[in-house]
Amino acid sequence: MRTVDLITKKRDGGELSGAEIEWFVRGFTVGNIPDYQAAALAMALYFRGMNPRETTDLTVAMADSGERLDLSTAVSNITVDKHSTGGVGDKTTLIVAPTVSACGAPVGKMSGRGLGHGGGTLDKLDAIPGFSHVISPKQFLAQLQEFGIVLAGQSTDLAPADGKLYALRDVTGTVASIPLIASSIMSKKLAAGAEAIVLDVKAGNGAFMTTVARARELAKLMVAIGSNSGHRTVATISDMNQPLGYAVGNALEVSEAIDTLRGGGPPDLRKHCVMLAGQMLYLAGKADDASDGSELARTSLDDGSALRQFRTLVSAQGGDPSYIDHPEQLAQANTITTITSQHDGFMNRMDAINIGKAAVMLGAGRKRKNDPIDLAVGIVVHKKVGARIHVGDDLFTIHANNTENIIAARDEALEGIEIKTEKISELPLHYGLVD
Ligand code: URA
Repeated sequence: MRTVDLITKKRDGGELSGAEIEWFVRGFTVGNIPDYQAAALAMALYFRGMNPRETTDLTVAMADSGERLDLSTAVSNITVDKHSTGGVGDKTTLIVAPTVSACGAPVGKMSGRGLGHGGGTLDKLDAIPGFSHVISPKQFLAQLQEFGIVLAGQSTDLAPADGKLYALRDVTGTVASIPLIASSIMSKKLAAGAEAIVLDVKAGNGAFMTTVARARELAKLMVAIGSNSGHRTVATISDMNQPLGYAVGNALEVSEAIDTLRGGGPPDLRKHCVMLAGQMLYLAGKADDASDGSELARTSLDDGSALRQFRTLVSAQGGDPSYIDHPEQLAQANTITTITSQHDGFMNRMDAINIGKAAVMLGAGRKRKNDPIDLAVGIVVHKKVGARIHVGDDLFTIHANNTENIIAARDEALEGIEIKTEKISELPLHYGLVD
């Protein structure tokens, strides 16, 4: 086979065979196929798409590019995993994973770094000094057996083809493709081996899928891939038109997650986490239905067991648990500036995309793959869509270490905000379930 033939076939609208897809993934993983050809193929796939059979073949080939864990034999309880397609202020994994684990369902998860305006769980965890997500497959299994919870980074052992291809897609404008996102996410899920998978597919201006219809299409495809591979899989479609919770930025989000694990936190964030945890506990067989699972999750957030399990996770992966008891010790920015409203009315828009971009301008995220990030900086929003606003009310607070960025970040955030006299309802948190 020749890579150029695969590229031209797809460019001209053809269908790749399973053997061709497998050959490409193997060659790319070991370095026989150069990045420029893989990028050309990714672009052809982006424009021409893939049918469900091709998408499944790509998923399986990427899952098989490294080791595949089999958690069904390694752990006696049903292990459950979750994955969000990415958003602004999305710190749910930090809350949901220990909550579900505290309710008796082991959670073994491979997380990612933030790219573009969306945050990543691994960057947030970096805010806890000492925490390491570099975990071998052997350690992954041992920690899951001993503590019932693991949050690992993508390693060269698990789905390495996705790691390489995702990095390439990120810099070649080929991320926002339904088959490519579905195969990327599901290859990691299949490699990490959990028996049950809950997918949190975001829809809105801050997500890859800006409409609910596109998000549902992505959700259906991923659920089909998961179910056809023998995993209990469901997807929720959730809103990403405004940030989730209030905090956007790594240490700020860890602090908000700890608040939520203590039984507090922003109401929308708690509600979203309780819903996801309910689904996970139901799929893991720990609850009769999702609403029973949500009740278990609420109890675990309120009785301190979810917080204790978060502390267990942090200690197991080398982090300093004293930061959980004293989140005020997490990295703090030098300059904290609050922007207030000049208008009376109702918050009509608090666009996640603008808040996410403003946080990146402050240094909370990366513009390029290997950019360093500033863990302390970010934005805390004080009002959500639908809120009554008076002149002088706090709209958002900028946490900055470089005063030169403050004006640009403020202007970017203000561009995403609209206060109007007409009353508007709160945005829904969820747009339904795909199972
Ligand atoms: N998250 C992933 O892991 N992969 C994608 O392609 C998009 C979001």
